[in-house]
Amino acid sequence: MLAEFRTKRETERIRVEEKYQVIGFISSGTYGRVYKARAKKTVKSADGEEKELVYAIKKFKPDKEGDIHTYTGISQSACREISLCRELQHQNIISLQEVLLEDNSIHMVFEYAEHDFLQIIHHHSQNERKPIPEFTIKSFLWQLLNGVAYLHANWVLHRDLKPANILVTADGVVKIGDLGLARIYERPLQPLFNGDKVVVTIWYRAPELLLGSRHYTKAIDIWAVGCIFAELLTLRPIFKGEEAKMDNKKNVPFQKNQLTKIFDVLGKPTKEQWPTIDQQPEYHNLSSFRSYPNRLREFYNSCSSNSDAGFGLLSEMLEYDPVRRITAEGALHHPYFDEDPKPSMDSFEGQRFQYPLRVVKSEDNDMKVPPAANSTVQGQAGATHGGTRGKHGHSGKDEGRPPKRRV
Ligand code: AMP
Repeated sequence: MLAEFRTKRETERIRVEEKYQVIGFISSGTYGRVYKARAKKTVKSADGEEKELVYAIKKFKPDKEGDIHTYTGISQSACREISLCRELQHQNIISLQEVLLEDNSIHMVFEYAEHDFLQIIHHHSQNERKPIPEFTIKSFLWQLLNGVAYLHANWVLHRDLKPANILVTADGVVKIGDLGLARIYERPLQPLFNGDKVVVTIWYRAPELLLGSRHYTKAIDIWAVGCIFAELLTLRPIFKGEEAKMDNKKNVPFQKNQLTKIFDVLGKPTKEQWPTIDQQPEYHNLSSFRSYPNRLREFYNSCSSNSDAGFGLLSEMLEYDPVRRITAEGALHHPYFDEDPKPSMDSFEGQRFQYPLRVVKSEDNDMKVPPAANSTVQGQAGATHGGTRGKHGHSGKDEGRPPKRRV
C-alpha cells in the first residue's frame, strides 16, 4: 500500500527539467550546488514581448550513508533555509520561487541575482582599480540594513553576513542570500552557540563571539554589516585574521589572531567602553594583549569617503559593547543617509559601466548542463570585462577567504 502510494507520488512529482532548463553551473559548497536556469514557460511583459525568466537553483546533496545515497531526511541547513525563505518576503531578501524534490535531492528555486558584493569588490580592486562610487556604497549599505532590519523585526538572525552572501540584481537591488545559518532566536531551545558549532565567518565575527559569548543577539549581524561597510569603502577586509583551528579533542580555540586584527584598528576594549567585558568567558585571555590605540579615524581617512557621518555610522556599528552597538533600524535613520548622495533602491542608477555578469560554467554532469556551455558561459558584459572572476580565482566562491561554516 505504502509502496504503491510512493510510486504514484514519484510518477506525479513535477521534475525539475519539466519546468526549467539548466544554463550552467555557478557554485558548489558542502551542502550541494547552485545552477543558473531559465523557466521553460516565458511570460509576456507589459509591452507584449515574450520574456524569459531566469532563476538560481540550489540543489542540496542527498544524505549519504557510506557509498549509498539514502533519503533519511533533509539537512538541517536546507530545512532552515526552506522554512525561513517560505515565510520571509521582503525586497531585500532573496525570494524563493518554489521547492522541488527530485531523486532524493531538494531543489530550491530562487530569483536570480546577477552580482554579489564580493564580485563587485573584486572588480573594483582588480580591474577598475578605483573605489566603488559613494552613491553605490550608500545604496548597498542602506538596502542591506533594510533587509537586516526586516529579519531582526521578525526575530531572525542571519548569522553569516559577508560579501559573498549579499547578492545584487542586475537592476541594482540588494538581496540578502544564504539563510542556511539563519535562525529564529526568540526563545532558543538550546544556546545558539554549541561547542564546535561556532558560526559566522571569522573576519566578520563579532568580538563577543570571539570572547566566547553564548548568547546570540542582533548585534552580531550589525558587527558583520560594519565590517562589510568598511570593506566596500577600502576594497579589503577590515579585520583579516587567521582562524585558529580546533584541536583533536574538539576544544574551541581562542581566536587570538582575529582579536589582534580588531584591536589593531579599534584599540583594546576597556571596561568604560564595554562594562560587562569581564563577564565574557574568554576575558582572562585579554591580559596577554598589549595596549593598542584606536586608529579607526586614521583608517577611515584613508578610504574613499570623507563623510564624517559615514565615519560616525561605521563607529557605531563597530561598537565593542553589543548593547551599545547601533541597531539596524537605528542605522537606517542615521544622518549619513540624509546626506548627498542619497541612497536609492537602484544602486547602479546613472552608472555608465556594467559589472561583469556572474560566471556560469559547464563542467558538471550532475544536472544536464547543455554541451553549448562547454566553456565558461558569460553574458555581454562578462565578455567585455574578460572573465574577471575566473582570472582571479573567484568563480562564484569566496576563495582565499575563511571557509563557510554550517551547523
Ligand atoms: P550560497 O550557498 O547561498 O552561499 O550560494 C553559493 C553561491 O551561489 C553564492 O556565493 C552565489 O555565487 C551563488 N548564488 C546563490 N544564490 C544565488 C542567486 N539567487 N542568484 C545567483 N547566484 C546565486
